[in-house]
Amino acid sequence: MAARKRCAFSSLEVMLSILFVALTTVSITLIAVTITHSANTCSGPTPPPDQEPPFLIGVGRADCTGPPAELPLMGYANPQQTAAGIHTRLFSRAVIIDDGRRRVVFVTVDMGMISQRLRLEVLKALRVKYGEQYRQDNVVLSGTHTHSGPAGYFQYTLFMISSKGYLRSSIQPLVRGIVKSIDRAHSSVRPGRIYKNRGRLDASSVNRSPHSYRNNPQDERIKYDDNVDKDMVLLKFTDMDGDGIGLLSWFAVHAVSMKTTNRLVSSDNVGYAAYLMENHKNPTALPGQAAFVAAFSSSNLGDVSPNIRGPHCVNSGLACDYLNSSCPDGGTKECQAFGPGEDMFDSTRIIGLNIYRKARELYSNAAEEVTGFVRSAHQWVNMTDVAVHVNDTHVVSTCKPALGHSFAAGTTDGGGDLNFTQGAVEGDPFWDGIRDALLGQPSNQTQECHRPKPILFSTGEMNWPLPWHPEIIDVQILTVGSVAVVAVPGEMTTMAGRRLREAVQRELQSEGAFSDVDVVIAGLSNVYTHYITTYEEYQVQRYEGASTIFGPHTLSAYVLKFGDLARAIAQDKVGSVPPGPPPPFFQKNLFNLLPAAPVDSKPDNSTFGEVLVQVLPVYRQGDVVSVTFVAGNPRHSGDVRDQSFVAVEMHDNTSDSWTLVHTDASWETRFRWLKGPERRSNATVEWHIPTNAAVASYRIKHFGHYKSMKGLRPVITPYQGTSDVFRVSGSFYYR
Ligand code: ZN
Repeated sequence: MAARKRCAFSSLEVMLSILFVALTTVSITLIAVTITHSANTCSGPTPPPDQEPPFLIGVGRADCTGPPAELPLMGYANPQQTAAGIHTRLFSRAVIIDDGRRRVVFVTVDMGMISQRLRLEVLKALRVKYGEQYRQDNVVLSGTHTHSGPAGYFQYTLFMISSKGYLRSSIQPLVRGIVKSIDRAHSSVRPGRIYKNRGRLDASSVNRSPHSYRNNPQDERIKYDDNVDKDMVLLKFTDMDGDGIGLLSWFAVHAVSMKTTNRLVSSDNVGYAAYLMENHKNPTALPGQAAFVAAFSSSNLGDVSPNIRGPHCVNSGLACDYLNSSCPDGGTKECQAFGPGEDMFDSTRIIGLNIYRKARELYSNAAEEVTGFVRSAHQWVNMTDVAVHVNDTHVVSTCKPALGHSFAAGTTDGGGDLNFTQGAVEGDPFWDGIRDALLGQPSNQTQECHRPKPILFSTGEMNWPLPWHPEIIDVQILTVGSVAVVAVPGEMTTMAGRRLREAVQRELQSEGAFSDVDVVIAGLSNVYTHYITTYEEYQVQRYEGASTIFGPHTLSAYVLKFGDLARAIAQDKVGSVPPGPPPPFFQKNLFNLLPAAPVDSKPDNSTFGEVLVQVLPVYRQGDVVSVTFVAGNPRHSGDVRDQSFVAVEMHDNTSDSWTLVHTDASWETRFRWLKGPERRSNATVEWHIPTNAAVASYRIKHFGHYKSMKGLRPVITPYQGTSDVFRVSGSFYYR
């Protein structure tokens, strides 16, 4: 197939102007670098006539778990949902692809979403290390959308309020983990090949706003079998020997199998799929230690739920109201959607397993080689006033950011606490009155612009102590051969994503440089701007429409802006894309509402790490072991990356030694931290013994730190505790 495409392109001997935009905290420097490209790219070892030249490929993964205690979890905006332990650890996974001339980096991170602040801090750190090699135009950061990672990595007021502020202790491990994953990918770069595959995954996703979806034109809807995108797209990476080194895949589903009642840090369903795939490739490695990197990325998941049993009224068992997702008694709070499992852990397991199995199948069958060149284009856009020509005479515009009333209703995956319902196209005098008194009234212009959205928070008009929402956003596209990755700064609904993919495909193919391009949406990328619905879905004003913060024409503006980038890539003129206005990097008025963790205390005559509730002497495979220790606050453990609060060790009789078989990153362990009265706390470690666990003797350890005072000086001291030894026997017994 088109074996000379890549060289044919490079033999044009074009003069490439690449604009490096160097971001510093005080100034923006624009340096134009001109690279004369010649046919030399095709020199070097001549590939066999039937083989394309390889890419250079690097993969890397790093722990980015933040403090697993007291910080709010990012996603449901539920102030009661603060971290209290670890279910699974959070990882950043990076892929670097280089065609010999240009390089792109795609990073997917087990977190709710990438914030502008996080991205700017990562880019700053990359610049210090790598100069101009990794920049805002060739690095995409995307969040998996787990709702069970620590919050506090935002610089805009709305998010700071729901995160207890801008928390250094939260953003630092994310920056360091992301950069470390890129470091590892960078140092592992080697010649390799890429294969792509695509396949349908059923029984893992449903549309949670079908009423909005049905408002899209019928002649558009009939083009699709489903009201969610069920295709997974996967890239397989191998070295030159054909050995697999990693994968990158996209599938549209919310990582919300774990509910608002969960208090454990967790990478949710998508993270579990990555966990299983890495374990499959390197079965003897501990979680997070495998050489193989399985990077699973989010997509146009805006209206897509993993809670496939759908919503019903918890109190009555009846169906919820179709438009409002509310119940006759109890309103939105009672209308909840459920996953396929017995509980949220089981639902996470089932959805994660489904995603993993499909990825594994696509990976092993991937045969279509991706060849050609690598390109990237990026622009900062002020999204508050993008003009879109509907036709020759009619021009519409995006708006200053604002959230509608139905934003406060939440979704059937996690409802709001107050009496808001989805589908509100009229304000509520009670809440509007409170809003006007506390935060100010939305201007007539903003109200008019967002119609029919009744504005709850006119965030674009609220600037104290810092702007409540971003105005400058990133649009960015990476292409690798016939695959285009569209980095969307938010959550696009199914149909919004389809329209954007089609528009980008059209532009890429318009110049003949691309044929048969696969366009994928990488969701939750670069900066968070909530949701993006179609114009028609917006009219219904369910949660997603109410959260489309730049107004009814947001999607049209993205189609325009991403279209410009796609055309520039197709014409090989990315250097001529204006960089756009750089986003702010706030130094002042960031606030932190999370008090420092106090000194720890413990019961009289006990020590930190002492066992309070001991294990039983014998368990069977499939049982749950539980042991409780006197603990310190996990926040005193500082940067907890690459550590573990938990060790499950197996005794080896022949060598009379202990082998580490599970850490707190393991699916089988749950580390729960329970804060008690008088600054005392406990740590309970559960081990859900796998049914195939070796019959042997085991023990469980817990590691932590406690804080005390030496005079006026706080002192942090490490401690550890160990359970009694227990036996795990076979599971054959009467049930
Ligand atoms: Zn979401």
